[in-house]
Amino acid sequence: MKRGIVALIVLTLFVGCGYFLFISHNYRSKINGILSFKKRPIRIQVQPFGDLSASQVSFVYDEIRKVYSNTVLLKPVALPSNSYYVPRDRYKADSIIHWLSNSTPDSCVTIGLTSKDISTVKGDIKDWGVIGLGFQPGKACVVSTSRLSNKNLSEQFFKVSLHELGHTQGLEHCENKACFMRDAEGHNTTDEEYEFCPKCRSVLIKRGWVFKS
Ligand SMILES: [Zn+2]
Ligand SMILES: [Zn+2]
Repeated sequence: MKRGIVALIVLTLFVGCGYFLFISHNYRSKINGILSFKKRPIRIQVQPFGDLSASQVSFVYDEIRKVYSNTVLLKPVALPSNSYYVPRDRYKADSIIHWLSNSTPDSCVTIGLTSKDISTVKGDIKDWGVIGLGFQPGKACVVSTSRLSNKNLSEQFFKVSLHELGHTQGLEHCENKACFMRDAEGHNTTDEEYEFCPKCRSVLIKRGWVFKS
């Protein structure tokens, strides 16, 4: 009888240990899964719309890649027809962003580039023209050349693109005058902007950006 009890205790301990090992193994692999997901670097996808010239697209693409090398260029596509706003002959930035977000894989962020005028809702104004728009946070943003100054259009184009990409990653406006996340407050300040400042950069790194120095 006593032997029976001892055998039962040993068996219980054996099964218990086995179960614990099984659970801890599963738990570990789940933790590893989460860690490896977090470690996967963010990739930028540049999505040109068909209306933009190839030279403008390649300029912006090259400049973004100089700042963040894990960037790919997608083939040009037409602007989504449901984003067209007939009364003002322009395109709803919010609709474009939703459309881009739907086809953006996890661990990627997409920037749409167009020459067409784009707009969004601002307070009571239903159709407010903008240079660029990005949800904060979000998976996609869009930038247009339509309202850029001719003086330094190409430079403004890629810097505004990086600014909107920064918003999608959760970045707020930055007080550093040299930072792409500076709030232009209606002015053309791109001449003075040349980097993501160390503070903004550290937020991006936490978000999964892997900068190559
Ligand atoms: Zn902004
Ligand atoms: Zn900054």
